[in-house]
Amino acid sequence: MVDLQGQYEKIKPEIDTAIQEVVDQTAFINGPAVQRFQKHLEQYLGVKHVIPCANGTDALQCSMMALDLQPGDEVITTSFTFIATVEVIALLRLTPVLVDVLPDTFNIDPEAIRKAITPRTKAIVPVHLFGQCADMEAILKIAADHNLFVIEDACQSIGAVWHACDGTSHHSGTIGHLGCTSFFPSKNLGCYGDGGAIYTQDDTLAAKLRVIVNHGMTVRYYHDMVGVNSRLDAIQAAVLDVKLGRLDAYIEARQKAANYYNKAFGSHPLLVTPQTAPFTSHVFHQYTLQIKGGHRDALHQHLNGLGIPNAIYYPVPLHMQKAYIDPRYREGDFPVTEQLCREVISLPMHTELDEEQLAYLTRTITDFLNTCK
Ligand SMILES: *Cc1c(COP(=O)(O)O)cnc(C)c1O
Repeated sequence: MVDLQGQYEKIKPEIDTAIQEVVDQTAFINGPAVQRFQKHLEQYLGVKHVIPCANGTDALQCSMMALDLQPGDEVITTSFTFIATVEVIALLRLTPVLVDVLPDTFNIDPEAIRKAITPRTKAIVPVHLFGQCADMEAILKIAADHNLFVIEDACQSIGAVWHACDGTSHHSGTIGHLGCTSFFPSKNLGCYGDGGAIYTQDDTLAAKLRVIVNHGMTVRYYHDMVGVNSRLDAIQAAVLDVKLGRLDAYIEARQKAANYYNKAFGSHPLLVTPQTAPFTSHVFHQYTLQIKGGHRDALHQHLNGLGIPNAIYYPVPLHMQKAYIDPRYREGDFPVTEQLCREVISLPMHTELDEEQLAYLTRTITDFLNTCK
């Protein structure tokens, strides 16, 4: 699905030097490499504070801790996302309230959010799924009307830009109260292990988050709140700093591949290509097709048989996951999500795809679907 080897080979001297520098300095925890990357990411995003942490899941969990969300508080999120979003809600004994997504963008449906609000609702967690922003204009309005926090799950959308009605543009993750990202190797800005970050414009929340990610420690060995141990490794920060300088070029390469796919698949009667909402750019963390006519699983098997990478993100809606079975929900409650789980397939999407590979992939898929009746 991704070609991390090919990408590394093109930047090998720079990456190797950056890693060696950390080793030479033996500054493995925090230290200059982490600070440098933090500063560069703040500049890139145009956000006041970046708080590095160990992974995207921790970023979400620490965000909810920083907002003092209490057991029983309701947090509204989407039924069509990676499990981490809802996992941290459950771990903190908050109550996840799931809502359906929009059929064109696969992002959370603002009208459904509005309907799900109760007096216990404290926060909304929109996920900018597959690399385009959710409808933040509508979400911010709902949050303002009901005095709710907005925590953006921007783990798949680093670099995506949202255009507000007032003419301003903002990076995904810098729009709500807090934004979370992941530097998992296959993410759009991926390191060589685990990594994550929280973004905020709020000085108080930033200060609190820096304490939470460091064992709740304000002064060395004085702990004012319950925290966690969640740090970004210096070696990962050094890798990320090199790759951040290329993030825009990486995004362009993904968009170019997406355009190729769109052209090849756009008019096929059994295929629905990804739709981008007018208020956002799309950084194509995933290129996800919908296969009509009930042929998704057959295509999946066909591609697997040929050794062509492909993946189903996601095969099971959150409310049907065994660990999250809840009497409040049953099959049929989230029809769009459920349909997507039956129809979606994601294709190889990375910075190193060339025309030859794209031609082979698209030809293989359309040839197969042309034999389906
Ligand atoms: C990857 C991802 C996460 C979690 O990030 P990790 O770094 O793997 O913990 C959370 N939410 C979404 C939507 C993701 O894609």
